[in-house]
Amino acid sequence: MRLAPTLLALSLSLALAPSARADTGLDADDIATAEGLRDRAMAGSQAWAVVESLTTEVGPRMAGTPADARAVAWAQAKFTAMGFDKVYLEPVTFPVWLRHHEKAEVLSPFPQPLVITALGGSIGTGAKPLEAEVVEFADLAALVAAPDGSLAGKIAYVANRMVRFKDGRGYGPAVGARSNGAVEAARKGAAAVVIRSIGTSSDRFAHTGTMRYVPEVPRIPAAALSNPDADLLSHMLARGKPVRLRLDISAETVGEYTSHNVIAEIRGRELPDEVVTLGGHLDSWDLGTGAIDDGAGVAITATAGALIGELARAPRRTVRVIAYANEEQGLYGGKAYAQARADSNQIATHQLGAESDFGAGRIYALRAGVDPAAWPVIERIGQVLAPLGIVVETEGGSPGPDVGPIVALGAPWAQLAQDGIDYFDYHHTANDTLDKIDPKALDQQVAAYAALMYLAAESDVDFGSAPPPATP
Ligand SMILES: [Zn+2]
Repeated sequence: MRLAPTLLALSLSLALAPSARADTGLDADDIATAEGLRDRAMAGSQAWAVVESLTTEVGPRMAGTPADARAVAWAQAKFTAMGFDKVYLEPVTFPVWLRHHEKAEVLSPFPQPLVITALGGSIGTGAKPLEAEVVEFADLAALVAAPDGSLAGKIAYVANRMVRFKDGRGYGPAVGARSNGAVEAARKGAAAVVIRSIGTSSDRFAHTGTMRYVPEVPRIPAAALSNPDADLLSHMLARGKPVRLRLDISAETVGEYTSHNVIAEIRGRELPDEVVTLGGHLDSWDLGTGAIDDGAGVAITATAGALIGELARAPRRTVRVIAYANEEQGLYGGKAYAQARADSNQIATHQLGAESDFGAGRIYALRAGVDPAAWPVIERIGQVLAPLGIVVETEGGSPGPDVGPIVALGAPWAQLAQDGIDYFDYHHTANDTLDKIDPKALDQQVAAYAALMYLAAESDVDFGSAPPPATP
């Protein structure tokens, strides 16, 4: 029998009831389940308790220190207690940097102490403090433009100021002074470099963070001044007289350490070899307690994963939570994770990866790097997230730092973009502590991650491989 076109359409739509599963792989029950996860998280999640536990019981956990091992043990025990089907460790090896002490003072013309912090990876000033005249540069480009040899025996001071934005885009243009300041200053003959902190705070806390050396350029000590101290130094220099600084820094790189990515899974019921991943980094800098960077991310994503695990029926695909090792000193955990997947030919089984590493502010946008054929799934997920104040943005975005390495190998990604307007007030400082976290904001993020990852795991649409994204 030939059906008239309208009848054919009708019978097709009936066959697809209760909703159009064809382009999203999701039916009305799946959506209702995701909405239930979302609403349960919003009613009050365990995320704050998880980050409270990490910051209280472990605290600062710089990679390669004894606290790194305590953090790994904490995560393994916590994830197990949260009811995941499987919790396991994967090794991550990296060089160990140790901070011993750091001190700075102006010797003349206006003697007074300055608040500094050594940058991660920096060498110390040696057996005795370094005393030298300071030369100020507006930014890294001005330092690069200085004549060769013009800084012989001097301390270069890079004064560039990070600009505050909700999406953190002021960080990229400013952070080169931290990463490359020592190399560029040493090329001009400098004995040390100090920078204005890469941060937006006006508190008297210096912001640390990684810096790098290159083999062909001499290594010199590198430190950041708190922003008020950077202002103070600029005011002294503006008077036109030589300003002499004493730097006393003890820090060193000592051998290698093997830490671990801590991985927890909810096993997929139909497609267990296909995975969606969410996570944050377990390590922190040593100055604060690593609450917003990135205890929050670990707590949000582990709580979201555990909520999915409480469902009566697991989603089709496996949900994998990853607490990455040593993000701060060079994305070692994310690189090791991606390399292990490449070595075992598992990149294509990675259906979607997301990461929470931008503090504890609320999420306002969902962005993704997926095959265009999978966009209907992202749009459908966006509808579930809309009551949380989250909109789908079809352009821009990027995976988190630890998801970046596997995305570079072709894995698809999603980003839940957070409001980071005050993130860089506390980032990498002694002021990164639990009180900066609003528990209700954490619940909103757990709600978003739980709904996103449940639906991405429940759908059987192939998210495909996406080209590596542009970094913002
Ligand atoms: Zn971080």
